[in-house]
Amino acid sequence: MKKDIVIIGAGPGGIFSSYELIKLHPELSITVLEAGNPLNKRKCPIDGKKVKSCINCKPCSIMNGFGGAGAFSDGKYNITNQFGGTLYEYIGKQQAIDLMHYVDGINLAYGGAGTKLYSTANTAIKTLCLQNNLHLLDASVRHLGTDINYIVLDNLYKELKEKVDFRFNSPAVKVEKADGVFRITTDKGEEIEADKCIISAGRSGSSWMESVCRDLDIPTKSNRVDIGVRVELPAVLFSHLTDELYESKIVYRTEKYGDLVRTFCMNPRGAVVSENTNGIVTVNGHSYEDPALQTENTNFALLVAKHFSEPFKDSNGYGESIARLSNMLGGGIIIQRFGDLVSGHRSTAARISESFTVPTFAATPGDLSLVMPKRILDGIIEMIYALDKIAPGTASGDTLLYGVEVKFYNMEVALDENLQTKHKGLFVIGDCSGITHSLSHASASGVHVARYISENIGK
Ligand SMILES: Cc1cc2nc3c(=O)[nH]c(=O)nc-3n(C[C@H](O)[C@H](O)[C@H](O)COP(=O)(O)OP(=O)(O)OC[C@H]3O[C@@H](n4cnc5c(N)ncnc54)[C@H](O)[C@@H]3O)c2cc1C
Repeated sequence: MKKDIVIIGAGPGGIFSSYELIKLHPELSITVLEAGNPLNKRKCPIDGKKVKSCINCKPCSIMNGFGGAGAFSDGKYNITNQFGGTLYEYIGKQQAIDLMHYVDGINLAYGGAGTKLYSTANTAIKTLCLQNNLHLLDASVRHLGTDINYIVLDNLYKELKEKVDFRFNSPAVKVEKADGVFRITTDKGEEIEADKCIISAGRSGSSWMESVCRDLDIPTKSNRVDIGVRVELPAVLFSHLTDELYESKIVYRTEKYGDLVRTFCMNPRGAVVSENTNGIVTVNGHSYEDPALQTENTNFALLVAKHFSEPFKDSNGYGESIARLSNMLGGGIIIQRFGDLVSGHRSTAARISESFTVPTFAATPGDLSLVMPKRILDGIIEMIYALDKIAPGTASGDTLLYGVEVKFYNMEVALDENLQTKHKGLFVIGDCSGITHSLSHASASGVHVARYISENIGK
């Protein structure tokens, strides 16, 4: 079978590249290969009753399928170059921001109209942070919420499926270059040839992406992993921040080691959830726009970035080992009261049930100091005390900490300014490129490549 373009992965990168290609060139024949299910068939079996924790489904409905890893996420589209990826280093700062706004416009047109755009511009919170040795990063944040995010994806799928050939449960296993075309083989042995191939396999496709780079001799580098905990506390403690900004990315430099600790993925009135990446259970969080689904708590991650230098290359392996330790001790995610952590006690089921902050996720009470490296844990404790100055109550003994939260980074693939590999016609976009780590950057990278391909058709 011969196609003009094969896209591997139907996450935001794959969706927005196919959207833009079809918009600019409706005559193109495009196949999207997706390892997971269509959106309406993505169901995680964890119901808190019969299935309480991850049973390692293949494919995992949280990470795989139409909508990608972000399908059931909080749908926070951060329009900024300050975090979420380094796309701007390849395409320029203004271009990156313009593309993120363009994606925002599409999200609004497909069901997101009426959702709020928050902004850090001209906020007094920035001054309050600076006065307390904390730094608020600049961003505009479109918060779709898990429910509206789903509607937007559903609407996009309804339109795209009329023009694009989507193949679900069809992971690509091999990409080869032969006689000026790319030959993509699926797990069922089907072969599709295409003039151009866009790989957008996301985080869950990171190991596979490594094998593609090895086979096609594409240079890569990898040296970073972020490790930390998810903090859960009464929503009122952070409401002065979250009501105005929704998501505040705050950075703190620790006094003890000079490490940077940052807040990440803030979910006002949200819930803590588990996440399974290749069999390793880590913690995450989400929230809903619908008030009926909201909780009394706000959760956010506190992460410390760990950069490694030569000769160590397996930064993700390091993060996985720490997550495995928590999985070994807690059977999954560990929960600990901040008060227990600083006084050197393991949290027990009794202590958690007496806590005034009621957990939104059933994790195993335990001791995070047995899991996390001391330097990282010290940094997190310091940051909690720093945050207590701008949001008093953060350092309460009843603040809940869930571990381990790990943010894995894909290795960086060597790409040019068009996100093209050294093989002309082979593009790598989104999180599997290592240059995006967010919905807006991944989507923007898809539009960027689609426009480049459109401009060069027939050349
Ligand atoms: C729980 C959760 C919450 C999040 N919340 C936010 C948020 O609020 N804001 C934000 O900016 N980011 C958030 N993120 C991160 C965001 O989801 C990702 O940055 C984004 O989805 C990356 O898009 P992508 O298209 O690059 O990859 P993905 O979304 O990971 O999509 C890749 C797709 O490729 C498929 N695939 C993988 N390998 C193959 C293969 N060999 N063949 C065929 N298909 C393959 C996968 O099944 C997947 O569907 C969240 C992530 C998670 C897990």
